[in-house]
Amino acid sequence: MDQLQPVRGTHDILPDQARQHRHILETARELAERYGYAEMATPIFEFTEVFKRTLGDTSDIVTKEMYTFSDRSGDEITLRPEGTAGIARALISGGLGQSLPLKVFYSGPMFRHERPQKGRLRQFHQIGVELLGAAAPLADVEVVALAADILDALGLRARTVLEINTLGDVESRAAYRAVLVDYLTAHRDRLSEDSLNRLDRNPLRILDSKDEGDKRVVAEAPVFSDYLTEDARGFFDQVKSGLDDLSIAFEINPRLVRGLDYYCHTAFEFITHDLGAQGTVLAGGRYDGLIETMGGQSTPGVGWAAGIERLSMLLGDETPAPRPVVVIPIGAEAQAAAFKLTQRLRHAGITADIGFSGNLSRRMKRANRDGASHAVILGTDELARNAASLRDMESGDQEEVALDALVERLLAGR
Ligand code: ATP
Ligand code: MG
Repeated sequence: MDQLQPVRGTHDILPDQARQHRHILETARELAERYGYAEMATPIFEFTEVFKRTLGDTSDIVTKEMYTFSDRSGDEITLRPEGTAGIARALISGGLGQSLPLKVFYSGPMFRHERPQKGRLRQFHQIGVELLGAAAPLADVEVVALAADILDALGLRARTVLEINTLGDVESRAAYRAVLVDYLTAHRDRLSEDSLNRLDRNPLRILDSKDEGDKRVVAEAPVFSDYLTEDARGFFDQVKSGLDDLSIAFEINPRLVRGLDYYCHTAFEFITHDLGAQGTVLAGGRYDGLIETMGGQSTPGVGWAAGIERLSMLLGDETPAPRPVVVIPIGAEAQAAAFKLTQRLRHAGITADIGFSGNLSRRMKRANRDGASHAVILGTDELARNAASLRDMESGDQEEVALDALVERLLAGR
């Protein structure tokens, strides 16, 4: 029955994967806190207008990817496709603007109606940070440094490359846009249909096209760096030297763009070659015009977001479950004592479990399957002596241990 399948592009997050996600989330959350980023959450749906205004009418997300519906009161609602818009809305509507600079960390599900493929889902999950109210290039360096530290802590830094670019300021962009449009118009017969559509509305995005024909045209296009104002060049230089000072290696990718007008100065991505076409694991940049576009007070901002599923795919199976101690009663009389003992182990901080049924051999099999480090076997004879048999599941060695000594013994063995 189709109705009982998950919706295309959505996934159940099964226990092994959930553990991996939690590991990524907790690693990021802890480092973000160390950098002074406070966690906050916004609703997973907003008025559609919030995203239209922040992402712009010409972005892929707004034109093709949003989950939008009218709710029962007739309000136009959209499931959030990304996190920045909600934070920006909260800054304006919630008076957070009083306490700038504001440093926030967030995480949660995002929704985009994309063509599902490996690393591209319709419900996926992001972690992200925003630094609002800081105009200095060092703010850009800080958010990149935090991203680098998170990837490092996850053991993924060596498998990614940091690419950066500058989108300059409004003046640089206007100058470049004009020559780019001239150049692309002269070669319009070689452009893909998508790019032709973007030519008027969002020409910078053509630089980012994945179409082979477009790529050939773009390869000979004028380069942005020739049109940077002195200020914009100075800003970029400070970001680069800030990264150098922290020994954060980067490559300059002049084709790295964000197509929207309020994006400016730094754009960056951490890319991997290990995930095929979906190689961007973390992406961000500066968006000084955003809050004003939404109707708030002019507030500079810089931030990034990373896809948890892509990070998780890179990690593979590297977050093993804790190995439990399994308590196995023999016979009905030992059941209650075994349950009490299990609780005692748990309260002592030991991951412990007890099957609810089955004979010794079935329970042993299950303990093996669950990756148990030890089995504590509780028979009536042992119970009478206030003891249990402790079996090391790795070596198979078994010995009798007094119940009172068990916790200490298990903790020492870790
Ligand atoms: P892409 O070029 O892959 O479409 P994007 O530019 O749309 O990415 P952003 O909006 O910058 O991506 O989102 C930041 C990160 O979120 C991406 O680098 C990626 O890790 C993750 N991400 C984005 N879209 C998806 C998706 N549909 N499924 C899974 N992860 C995603
Ligand atoms: Mg996308």
